[in-house]
Amino acid sequence: MTDVWSNWSGWVKAWPRQLATPASEEEVAKIIRDAQGPVRVAGRGHSFTPLVESDGTILTLFGLSGVVDHDPESMIARIRAGTTIRDLGPALFEHGLALVNQGDIDRQTLAGAVGTGTHGTGGGLGSLSAGVKAFRLVTASGEVMSCSRTENSDVFDAGRVSFGSLGVMTEITMQCAKTYALEETGGRMPIAEALDRAEALRDEGRHFEFFWFPFADQALIKFLKETDKEPRPRRRRPDGEMSRDDKIMQLACDVARAFPFLRGPLQRLLTSSSGSRYSSGSINGIEGQSAKVRWSHDAFPSDRNVRFNEMEYAVPAEKGPDCIREVGEHMRKCGINFLFPLEFRYVAGDDAWLSPFYRRDSVTISVHQYHRQPYRALFAGVEDIFRRYEGRPHWGKLHTCGAKEFEALYPKWDDFQAVRRRLDPAGKFLNDHLRHVFGES
Ligand SMILES: Cc1cc2nc3c(=O)[nH]c(=O)nc-3n(C[C@H](O)[C@H](O)[C@H](O)COP(=O)(O)OP(=O)(O)OC[C@H]3O[C@@H](n4cnc5c(N)ncnc54)[C@H](O)[C@@H]3O)c2cc1C
Repeated sequence: MTDVWSNWSGWVKAWPRQLATPASEEEVAKIIRDAQGPVRVAGRGHSFTPLVESDGTILTLFGLSGVVDHDPESMIARIRAGTTIRDLGPALFEHGLALVNQGDIDRQTLAGAVGTGTHGTGGGLGSLSAGVKAFRLVTASGEVMSCSRTENSDVFDAGRVSFGSLGVMTEITMQCAKTYALEETGGRMPIAEALDRAEALRDEGRHFEFFWFPFADQALIKFLKETDKEPRPRRRRPDGEMSRDDKIMQLACDVARAFPFLRGPLQRLLTSSSGSRYSSGSINGIEGQSAKVRWSHDAFPSDRNVRFNEMEYAVPAEKGPDCIREVGEHMRKCGINFLFPLEFRYVAGDDAWLSPFYRRDSVTISVHQYHRQPYRALFAGVEDIFRRYEGRPHWGKLHTCGAKEFEALYPKWDDFQAVRRRLDPAGKFLNDHLRHVFGES
């Protein structure tokens, strides 16, 4: 009997023969050398795809955590790969530094987030993988490689987004920024107007995004703008502690699940009540603006305790509004029960070979389904739309693409495969999901 490993949503489970928790790079190398495959390394299990599933060996790097050193001049920090983004915020802050951008939550490990191209929003801001300056990688043979633009540069280009298929990262060097404070504002705006003005809204502040319940005719707009105002501390909830908003969302999900005809009215109600978080009034066409000011690492993450499954595609930025319009229309008409809103964000292009943002400024569109409801039919319908818009799926979120699709989507696909086969000729890091992704039998 072995321990079970499960992802966050609970849909991926694994019973590996070995669950290893190395505390040093040497131990990582020894475990990989001796391990039974497939060898998979887990972050915090926040991917929806079965990237980590293995009946062989699963490693977790909680023992490899913390900032190793930093350079205040260049604002570069060397960070152990198992550090969670949540722990990283205060640790960098002590050194006067911050991550340049972050996603919706901060529960992931740095290596897990980098490995899948995890991103936040911001017209000129890339994903976390785009901020990687160097990393150390333990390969299938147990060799340790230092990779950067000047050292093992092909492994650097392939490895920044490689979801543990080239080896195990033990340390990642990140380009950081000087600490900065963000002011959150936002409110409701008619969806038609949000889509017409999307680029102008994107350029209005450092971070812009919106959420949209497809049965509502208003979007929930959110800005995070850099400010000189005094930030206020934020109490962070422990894992699993539900906020008031979480409880309302959970209740709405359960009601809609039991009474599907209520999904439209509930989506409209959640939209109109969300605005109540903001003070009343209308500024620049947005109903109900107000502000809270926090240091960046406190400002980015939200509490997400209502479990869901998710699909997300990155489409060319200029096509984002048309794509989400079509996705929303499909979801309203398809007759499938769902409650969660769509999320619309901007990400700048980068040059990591398997980054969904490879040489393309993008809009990401996310579709969520409550974890107690089936997602396949809902996601299949929207995936057809994403594909027509030349979308590239998030590596950690659900999709049905295989090697044939990826080869067409990624100009550097063959170069990546050559590096992967060179570093891992026996396929020690491949599980069934990755065999499908890479077209290996
Ligand atoms: C509630 C929620 C909110 C989310 N919000 C966002 C968001 O705002 N933006 C976004 O882009 N994504 C988001 N995601 C997706 C999430 O950021 C990614 O799936 C991320 O990869 C999860 O990180 P993790 O540490 O849990 O890694 P895991 O999911 O455990 O692993 C992810 C991949 O990284 C690999 N990996 C882990 N550690 C290492 C290592 N040391 N060396 C090499 N490879 C490694 C794993 O093998 C795996 O392939 C969200 C997910 C959830 C559940």
